[in-house]
Amino acid sequence: MVLLLIPAAGLAVAVGVLFGWRWVLAPLLGWAMLTWLLASLRVLGRDAKAPGMPDEDELEVAPVGSGERTLFWCEECGTEVLLLVRGTSRAPSHCGQRMHERTEILN
Ligand SMILES: [Zn+2]
Repeated sequence: MVLLLIPAAGLAVAVGVLFGWRWVLAPLLGWAMLTWLLASLRVLGRDAKAPGMPDEDELEVAPVGSGERTLFWCEECGTEVLLLVRGTSRAPSHCGQRMHERTEILN
């Protein structure tokens, strides 16, 4: 790699002296920007999953037809939430507080 850089640097100096340094600097700048862009896109693709989201196999799916369901309600404003898929064992938050858990028995 280093052995390739020496003739490339010599060619760059020759082109820069003969034709002007913009013919050397512009491709270098373009290469740097392209490298940066591709690296950014690679990171975006890898971190498409939101941070803090549990993996698919960690999710706890509420059993359907088990005769009961778990609701969460907010003491502050009265909002009720039925979680179909539960990511963690912690209760969700609303109005800046943890919601209260309530289990309903279905008929
Ligand atoms: Zn609330």
